[in-house]
Amino acid sequence: MTIQSFQVTVIGGGINGVGIARESISKGFSTLLIEKDDFAHATSGNSSKLIHGGIRYLENAEFKLVQESLKERKILLNTAPHLVTPLRLNIPVYGTDKRPPWMVWSGCKMYDLFAGPDNMKPSRKLSDDETHRISVLNQDDLKGVVQYSDGQTRDARLTVETALSAQEYGADIRNYHELIKVESKENSYLLTILDKRLNKEYQISTKYLINAAGPWVPALDKKITKKQKRPGLKYVRGIHFVVPKIQEDDTGFLILPSDGRVVFVLPWIQDFTLIGTTESNFSGDDFDVIPSSQEEEDYLLETFNQFFPSKKISMDDVVYKYSGVRSLVDHGEDNMSAISREYVVEQEDLGSDSGYLAVFGGKITTYRSLAVKMIDKVLSKLEPEINKHHNTEIEPLFGGYDINHPQQDEIKQQLSDLKLEPSFVDRWQMYYGSRWIEIANIALSNPDHRKTIGIEGYLKAELIYNVIHEKAHKLEDVILRRTKLIYHLDQNQRDQIQQEINSILSK
Ligand SMILES: Cc1cc2nc3c(=O)[nH]c(=O)nc-3n(C[C@H](O)[C@H](O)[C@H](O)COP(=O)(O)OP(=O)(O)OC[C@H]3O[C@@H](n4cnc5c(N)ncnc54)[C@H](O)[C@@H]3O)c2cc1C
Repeated sequence: MTIQSFQVTVIGGGINGVGIARESISKGFSTLLIEKDDFAHATSGNSSKLIHGGIRYLENAEFKLVQESLKERKILLNTAPHLVTPLRLNIPVYGTDKRPPWMVWSGCKMYDLFAGPDNMKPSRKLSDDETHRISVLNQDDLKGVVQYSDGQTRDARLTVETALSAQEYGADIRNYHELIKVESKENSYLLTILDKRLNKEYQISTKYLINAAGPWVPALDKKITKKQKRPGLKYVRGIHFVVPKIQEDDTGFLILPSDGRVVFVLPWIQDFTLIGTTESNFSGDDFDVIPSSQEEEDYLLETFNQFFPSKKISMDDVVYKYSGVRSLVDHGEDNMSAISREYVVEQEDLGSDSGYLAVFGGKITTYRSLAVKMIDKVLSKLEPEINKHHNTEIEPLFGGYDINHPQQDEIKQQLSDLKLEPSFVDRWQMYYGSRWIEIANIALSNPDHRKTIGIEGYLKAELIYNVIHEKAHKLEDVILRRTKLIYHLDQNQRDQIQQEINSILSK
C-alpha cells in the first residue's frame, strides 16, 4: 500500500492548527491537518469570544503582544466581517476601585494609540448624564464610565471557517482523525493516524510536523522531541454563562471586581448576554471535558449581581454554561491574570529540509500572525511543491466575501415565492456570510430540503450544509459549534436533529 506524503502536517484543529494549515497551503506546501474530535471542541470554542489587543495586558507592559493583536484585530474585522464585528465596551469606575477614573481613561487612550492607523472608534469618557442613563449598572458610588472598542467573534465558527478556507485552497483537512504514533525517519516523519469514524488506522509521511494541540502540546511534544528544556505550561480554567439579554443596547461591559480580575458582560447572538470569565488553577489532565466548580459559578453570579443589581440572576437564568482551559507559558508568576498570553514557538530540525515545530500558549486574536511566523520557518528550509500563493492578510476568510451575490435578487425572489425570505436569508448571512447562497441553493434544489428540522427557522438545507460542507458529524458539532441552536432546543428537538444527521451521514 502506498503511503500518502505531505510537506506539512498539522496536529490539532483548534484555531492555531487551522490557521497554520491555511497559511501553509497559502504558501504552496502540500498540507494535511488532523483533529481528533471536532474543530474548536476544546479551548477555541470556549473562549470569551473577543478579538482584542487585551487592554489589561497594558498593565503588565506586554506592549508587543498588544500591538500584534491590534493589527490582527483589524485584519480579521476586514477579512471576516460576518464573524468578527466591532463591539463597544463600557468600563464603569467606582469610588472604591483601585484604578481611579483617570487611570482607566489613560489606559484606553494608550490602547487607541497602540492601534495607530488600525484603530477602531476611539475611546471616550461618558458625560455624567450618559453615565446615569445606563440604568442596568449599579449607580452607587459610580464615578464615571469610559468607553472603548474591540472586536467580537463566534470563536467556533471562526475556527471551522478557517479550516474550510484551508480546504478550499487545497489542504487536506480531516476532523475525527487522531495522531496516535510518531516515528522519525531519515528525512521525514511517519505518522500513524486513527480514523475515529471508521475505527481504522493508516499511515502518512510528512517532511514537517507541527504540534498545535493546545493543552495536549506538552504530552505530544514528549513523544517527539529529544530536547530536555521545554517551556512549561500553566493551565488556567475559565467559565462563562449565557443568560437572556440584559443590556438595553449592543454595548458590552468590562467590569473590574475588587480582586483585580476582569469580567466581561457582552451582548451575544442577538437575544443573549455572555458573562465571563473566571481564572482558576486547573490541575487535571483530561482536557476534553473541563468541569466548572461551584466556587467559580458562585463568583460569577455574585460579581454580576453586584454590578447589575436590577438584573439579578441565579443559576436558573443560565441558559448555557461552558468551561475552557487556557494553556499559558509559565514564567513562575503567582497571579494568574499577570501570566502572559504571549506564545512560544519551539523548532528543531530532522534532516536538511524537514523538522518539527510546536506552539506553546497563545490567543485566538493572534492565530494568523502566529501561523505566518511558523510557516516562515518552514519556508526557510523547504521549497513549496505547489505553485500558488494566497495572502491571508487581505483575502476574505471563507464566508467573508461580499454577501451581495450577483444572482442574489433572483435567488431571494425564488425564496420569497416559497415564503422563505427575508428572515431565513438574514440569519444565514449572519452565520455564513457570503456562503448563504450555497444553503439557499440546497433549499431551492429539492422540496424535502425545505422541511423544518427540530425547531422553527432551521431547515434541512442548513443541516445538509453543516454536515456535508462543514464536516459536522455529531449533534454538538451542529447545534453548538456551527449554529447556536443549543440555547433553544429541548430533548425531543435534539433527537429529531440527531436522526436527520444519521440519515444524511448514512447516504
Ligand atoms: C476561558 C477562556 C477565555 C478566552 N478568551 C479569549 C478571548 O476572548 N480572545 C482570545 O483571543 N483568546 C481567548 N482565549 C485563548 C484562546 O481561546 C486560546 O489561546 C486558543 O483557543 C488556543 O487554541 P489552540 O488551537 O492552541 O488550542 P485548542 O483549541 O485547544 O485546540 C487543540 C486541538 O488539538 C487537538 N488534538 C490534541 N491532541 C491531538 C491528537 N493526538 N491528534 C489530533 N488532534 C489532537 C484537540 O482535540 C484540540 O481540538 C481564551 C481562553 C480561555 C480558556
